[in-house]
Amino acid sequence: MKTVRHEFVEYIPEKLEEGVVYISVSYGTVAHSCCCGCGMEVSTPLSPTDWKLTYDGESISLYPSIGNWNFPCKSHYWITNNKIRWAGQWNNKEIKEGQQQDRFEKAVYYEKKRSTASKEDRKLVEETKEESHVSANGIWGKLKKWLANL
Ligand SMILES: [Zn+2]
Repeated sequence: MKTVRHEFVEYIPEKLEEGVVYISVSYGTVAHSCCCGCGMEVSTPLSPTDWKLTYDGESISLYPSIGNWNFPCKSHYWITNNKIRWAGQWNNKEIKEGQQQDRFEKAVYYEKKRSTASKEDRKLVEETKEESHVSANGIWGKLKKWLANL
């Protein structure tokens, strides 16, 4: 198999046709039958820490490469502009490094996300505090006026 064709779908079908890359934008996932022909289903979720899909209007590319180290075939290839470029099998060291790199990137990404999230939370807390401060002032002001009018 040297090329694939892509198909935009709502749901990834249960039976994947060989040589077809199914893309579900709504579910942010891409699936295809392993390009070596072994029939294993390869699922490549799209996310900032998983795969990125490029669609140029005619063909698709997936980044990074697809390393099926969990399959008996252990195939490894790139899909670039609907062409399959074989990248050679992973050796055990590469598999380990790849997994470590993956874990590392995920950890960095979620740490970044977490720290911005907590910053936003803090901002929200500050804003709420300010608001309650203002409204307390308002009540206090009214109370003072009321007292002055007594
Ligand atoms: Zn395979």
